[in-house]
Amino acid sequence: MSFERELEKIKKEIREYLPDDIQIQKIEFEGPEIAVYSKGDSDGADVELIQQSDILKELAKKMRKRIVIRWNVDKRMDPAETEKYIRNLVGEEAEISGIEFDHTRGEVIIESGKPGIVIGKKGVNLKEIRANTFWQPRTIRTPPLTSRTIQLIRGMLAKERQTQKDILLRIGKRIHRPVMYKDLNIRMTALGGFREVGRSAILMQTQDSNILIDCGLNVGNPRERFPFFNLPEFNIRDLDAVIVSHAHLDHCGMVPFLFKYGYRGPVYSTLPTRNLSTMLQLDFVQICEREGTTPPYSKRDVKNTVLHTIPLSWGKVTDIAPDVKLTLHNSGHILGSSMVHLHFGKGGYNFVYTGDFKFQKTRLLERANIKFPRVEALVVESTYGGPQDRIPSRQESERELRQVINSTIKKGGKVLIPVLAVGRAQELIIVIEEFISKGMIEQIPIFLDGLISEATAIHTANPDYLSSDLREKILHQGKNPFLSDFFTTVNTYDERMDVLTGGPCVIMATSGMLIGGPSVYYLKHLAENPDNSLIFVSYQVRGTLGNRIQRGFKEFQYVDEKGRTQLVKSNLNIFTLEGFSGHSSRSQISQFMRRIQPRPKMIITNHGEESKCVSLSTMIHKKLRKATKSPKNQETILLK
Ligand SMILES: [Zn+2]
Ligand SMILES: [Zn+2]
Repeated sequence: MSFERELEKIKKEIREYLPDDIQIQKIEFEGPEIAVYSKGDSDGADVELIQQSDILKELAKKMRKRIVIRWNVDKRMDPAETEKYIRNLVGEEAEISGIEFDHTRGEVIIESGKPGIVIGKKGVNLKEIRANTFWQPRTIRTPPLTSRTIQLIRGMLAKERQTQKDILLRIGKRIHRPVMYKDLNIRMTALGGFREVGRSAILMQTQDSNILIDCGLNVGNPRERFPFFNLPEFNIRDLDAVIVSHAHLDHCGMVPFLFKYGYRGPVYSTLPTRNLSTMLQLDFVQICEREGTTPPYSKRDVKNTVLHTIPLSWGKVTDIAPDVKLTLHNSGHILGSSMVHLHFGKGGYNFVYTGDFKFQKTRLLERANIKFPRVEALVVESTYGGPQDRIPSRQESERELRQVINSTIKKGGKVLIPVLAVGRAQELIIVIEEFISKGMIEQIPIFLDGLISEATAIHTANPDYLSSDLREKILHQGKNPFLSDFFTTVNTYDERMDVLTGGPCVIMATSGMLIGGPSVYYLKHLAENPDNSLIFVSYQVRGTLGNRIQRGFKEFQYVDEKGRTQLVKSNLNIFTLEGFSGHSSRSQISQFMRRIQPRPKMIITNHGEESKCVSLSTMIHKKLRKATKSPKNQETILLK
């Protein structure tokens, strides 16, 4: 059946189902959604009525497609005029900080300090806006910190509204093409991140479609940096969709590379993952340029990635190919991090990829999801999957952190904590803020260097993705730890010198594995003084300087600003506090495997050193009596 006939069939079904008083202007595929435009001769009450009823839900269930209803696009007021109208209507006391238009959704997004005033009594202002401008208003609160990345992304999107609309229509056509094959045949190919940590990439294929889950780069090993894009199974032009589980570079770092080589399809992730990934990808390009190496992609490719990204919230089922539906669930690892659930065919087969996950509530995030509608095969991470990998409790690690900071201050030393900009940094900010405000450590300066503050700003812009306690604190108690004045952001050479020549302090700096960035600069200058301490709080990939120092190496090479190499001796006190880890320990993985609903029939391990992937797979097989596999990179498994 041709695409046009398929579309006609769908349109007919929708028309039959909707009440007669809805006058349909047109029906279009917009990315994974089907948009029904109402002629809306009234004030939009007909559309509102349908939105509030169960009609769309029932229709979606019946047709197994996501359907949204929008207003008559021809009647929309000019954006500039609409903005003026809204500002006039709600007045200055609403503290509007920005108004954005989403032309595809027909939405006007009003960011303000007082959303309650924008909404008005019983929503009276929203009704007025709708009736007079034909835009659907949505209110969001102005985040307390300004993120440069979010501003940049908004700027890009605002300039390319039409391009975005064209992209969505093209993607929609491809998703809703008819299925060619009746029998399901599902293959999983390990493109990267199997029996190793870094360059995560999984290719899922049916006869009809090709889906790539994650597309990362190995920061620790320049010789094995990229996923195996050269395998015969992989062809950029055949890809239907790319799904990004979370914003660490070992999962999202190579997505723009696909665009450089011609990919023009959708990228699915949560909104915070899109924002954080963009920040890290742009930073990666900049670091390569600064170090004089050629980056694998350019800023233009990052921009193209943003334009093709379709943000999804957790729990929403979305068509991403004619025979594949995607749902993202919380994975508890970093802001916006997700487990990926794929449903193949009609009731055919279900696949879950845990991505990096934490099966324990942290101060920052809720525990990973365990309930799925169905699961046949599960890919589980094994970072801490070895028998020796006991992770101490968070309380234990917090106590130790306090002790290390206090004893270092007493000696007049400084504490260096290398962190990834996203994740552990924010967890530690919350912990240290509590230490100081409760008087558990002295009020010494806490310096943040690298992208930490920018990543923190993105956290405050997406409070929905934080743990309920933290969200409550931020939204209703006015106690936002991220705004505490205990922390000072450091950016320039002079500021760094001030930190180094000043008194006792704690320095949190990127990169987290001591491979470039300010953390290495501080390390070089703090290394020789035996009063100073170095604390590792996150996983150190083999091949990185962080991993060597953690394993006891007392000397390292440092390349200074002029490109000269020096040998530096380290007298630092080294500590590793695994309790802050965003990964599950072996026992947490095992608890997760016992409690996941329903239990998968086949379990595949990845994202861990070779011995850990194999050991975890053996343990699960013995304890749960399930089929397990720990494939190598480049292997293909026939799932069904
Ligand atoms: Zn991660
Ligand atoms: Zn990872």
